Amino acid sequence: MVIIIKREADAAQVENLKALLRSKNIDPVVTKGERQTIIGCVGDLSHLDTGVIEALDVVESVQRIQEPYKAANRKFHPEDTVVDCSGVKIGGGHFGVIAGPCSVESEEQLVGIAQAVKAAGATMLRGGAFKPRTSPYAFQGLGAEGLRLLSLAKKETGLPIVTELMDFKDIELFNDVDVIQIGARNMQNFNLLKEVGSYTKKPILLKRGMSATLKELLMSAEYVMASGNPNVMLCERGIRTFETALRNTLDLGVVPLLHRMSHLPVVVDPSHATGYAYMVDPVAVAAAAIGADGLIIEVHNDPPHAKCDGAQSQTPDMFAKTMERINKIRSAL
Ligand code: PEP
Ligand code: MN
Repeated sequence: MVIIIKREADAAQVENLKALLRSKNIDPVVTKGERQTIIGCVGDLSHLDTGVIEALDVVESVQRIQEPYKAANRKFHPEDTVVDCSGVKIGGGHFGVIAGPCSVESEEQLVGIAQAVKAAGATMLRGGAFKPRTSPYAFQGLGAEGLRLLSLAKKETGLPIVTELMDFKDIELFNDVDVIQIGARNMQNFNLLKEVGSYTKKPILLKRGMSATLKELLMSAEYVMASGNPNVMLCERGIRTFETALRNTLDLGVVPLLHRMSHLPVVVDPSHATGYAYMVDPVAVAAAAIGADGLIIEVHNDPPHAKCDGAQSQTPDMFAKTMERINKIRSAL
C-alpha cells in the first residue's frame, strides 16, 4: 500500500502519520518527490482499515499495490533509486562500469587488470573469489586469499570491489567488499537472500537466474529489501532459451520494462550474456543505448590462459575501446 500525502501537509503531520503506522506494526518508507510525498507501507497490512487512513486530513489518497513485490515496486517508490557503492553511484542518471576478471587468480593478474580498467574509465573492480562452477573439478576460486587480493587491488587503485558471496558462512570475510554479488545460480536461494538482507546494508548486485521471470527476479530483490537492505541493483545476464549459438540469450528489452516495474537500477552483463569476447563491445554499447544504469564486463590480461571464462573476456585494450564507445553513446543520448 502507498499513501499519497496532501501537498499542503506539514512535516509534523507526516511525522504523526508515521507514528500511527508504526503503532500498527507497519514500517513507513517516505519518498519525497519534487511534486509529491508518498509513504510506502511495509508489513502485514491485512488488519489495517484503509478507510481510516484515507479519512485522515493529511492523506490525499491510498493505493493498494497489486503486484506481489512491494518494496521493489515503482509504485511504492516513484523516484529512481540511486545506489551508493562506497562513493560510486549507480541509478537515477548515474552510470557505473564494473570491470575485471571472472576470477581472481594472482596478485599480478588482479592488480594489473585493476590498473588497466581504471585507466580506461571503469568505476568498480570485479573478481570472483568464490566461483559457482558447473563442474566440481573446475577451478573453484581462491576463496579467502582471493578476497585479500581484491582488497589489495582496491588499495592500489581506489576502485570499490564487487565479488560474489555463495555461502553466508563466509560473510565475515567480506568486510572490505563494497558490493556483494548474488549470482544467477543463487538468485532463488531464499535463505541467503534473507541472511544477506538482514546482516548488511551494503549494495547487493542481484543477477537474474537463467530461467527466472522478471517477477521472480523482483521477488528475490524483495527478499533482500524486506529483510532490511534497500540497496539492490538488478542484473540482466542473459537467460537460457532454445538458442545454443550463444552462451545465453540476452534479454535486453527487460531494461525499460524493469525500469517501469521497479525503481531499482538495472545493470547489464554482456560477457555472460554472449559468451564471446568479440560480442561484448556491441552488446555493451546497445545496453548503454537502451538505458541500462551500468555494465559488468569481464576483462583478462591473458584470456587464452584464464582459469575461468577466457572466451568471453575482453583484453584491457578491447575494454578501453568499448569504454570510449560507451562514453560516445551516452553523450550522444
Ligand atoms: C560471474 O559474474 O562471474 C558469474 C558467475 O555470473 P552469473 O552468476 O551471472 O553466471
Ligand atoms: Mn564469469
